[in-house]
Amino acid sequence: MKNQAILPSEIKPSLSAFRNRQGCYHKHRHRYQLQQLELLQNSEKWDVPGQALAHILQTLDLRLVQSYLPPDRWAEIDFEARVIRVATDLEAQLHHPSATQRVLIDSVTHELAHWVLKHKPGRDGVQKANWEVEATVWTYQFLAPWWLLDGRSEIRAMQKGGLTERKQLALIYELSDWFGVTRSFMIRALELYGILEFGVLEYRKTARPRSGPELVKHLLEDSRRAVGA
Ligand SMILES: [Zn+2]
Repeated sequence: MKNQAILPSEIKPSLSAFRNRQGCYHKHRHRYQLQQLELLQNSEKWDVPGQALAHILQTLDLRLVQSYLPPDRWAEIDFEARVIRVATDLEAQLHHPSATQRVLIDSVTHELAHWVLKHKPGRDGVQKANWEVEATVWTYQFLAPWWLLDGRSEIRAMQKGGLTERKQLALIYELSDWFGVTRSFMIRALELYGILEFGVLEYRKTARPRSGPELVKHLLEDSRRAVGA
């Protein structure tokens, strides 16, 4: 289970957060899909939507820059300046730096979602929380859309059921590699589409190890990185 990136929000998966996303998905999926297909139809050649991201940003005249952001914030959008800022130290913040590219795509798409959905800057409270749910769902739908998943052998096997957890994870790895998203992202997307039941796959296994030799090894790797060894 190497190469697994953990987003801050994913350390403690909560059922209520899942229900919010599910509600948002059922309410808005058709509108989101239409927006996304429109963005994709004018893009250069791509196999999965993540590959079209750079071109879409260009088309929308949104610039991507690196910037020092507050801790735990990996990207943000400046609506006025039409700029998406990505944390300069993104890689150092991840437990598994090899997943940086996938986390980057997720983070940038999330900010793109705020733009497409015309969310306004500077709001707080319930409205902002709803917007975060919307942007998150939009991102799952964009990077791992159901219309690309539907009918695939991995999905059919999961729908049929009776798979061991190991086999199920292997299929999820295949899909996440194909889409260029993290495994936890893929699991979340499949939960949203009702292919996986929420929380059935063990999240702790994909999180930073808490004790034992795995943790020691992890910390050692971290400290090596810190000194550039
Ligand atoms: Zn957001």
